[in-house]
Amino acid sequence: MITVIDGPAGSGKSSTARAVADKLDIEYLDSGALYRTVTLLYLQAGRDKTVFFQLLDQAKISFRYCDRQFHVAVDDAAVTDRIRTPEVAEHVSEVAALPRVRTFVNHLMREAVKDGIYIAEGRDLGTAVFPDADLKFFMSADIEERARRRYNERKPDNPALSLEEVRRNIQQRDLKDANREADPLKRAEDAIEINTTNLSFEQQVDQICLYISD
Ligand code: C5P
Repeated sequence: MITVIDGPAGSGKSSTARAVADKLDIEYLDSGALYRTVTLLYLQAGRDKTVFFQLLDQAKISFRYCDRQFHVAVDDAAVTDRIRTPEVAEHVSEVAALPRVRTFVNHLMREAVKDGIYIAEGRDLGTAVFPDADLKFFMSADIEERARRRYNERKPDNPALSLEEVRRNIQQRDLKDANREADPLKRAEDAIEINTTNLSFEQQVDQICLYISD
């Protein structure tokens, strides 16, 4: 069984999906973290696509959810913190737009969910990756609210960060993610829309848990 949540950056998908996973004792899959991990390889390759695709073919990417965190490793070395830097955030949308990258990440995800009950979140899970998902949600929220949430999340690890910088990054990514040719950010026709601007976190989590348990 798989439930998917799609939506733009900062809409609350990730924290909500993790809380639902903990409450219902199911597995959690963060597709954005996988695109961020691949972006690390791209930066490691000096943004040279030929070198990058070689690294991509050779790298062993592993991931697991525990202690409320989605842990990712490349060749058994943890990259969980390194994928959250502003540099990765700046380049991830351009890397995620490459069809070869999407095929790679989609394969990783489809293999992972073969065993177990999952809640997964991303941009195109309900439309492209898991079109037959048992339940689909699309989360949205006002840009100001999304920027504020992302800023509060990231600020403790990055004191130099400004709210304006976060807002600009989110807006740019939304634009690139929604306008790319390969599997753009889009609400699936059969997805349940949840606008989280005026919902409390508990309300978001409870709504989704109710649907899953139904
Ligand atoms: O969710 P998060 O903000 O970590 O995602 C980082 C980026 O990964 C997004 O801005 C988008 O470019 C890409 N992504 C994607 N498809 C997904 C999930 C994330 O293209 N399913």
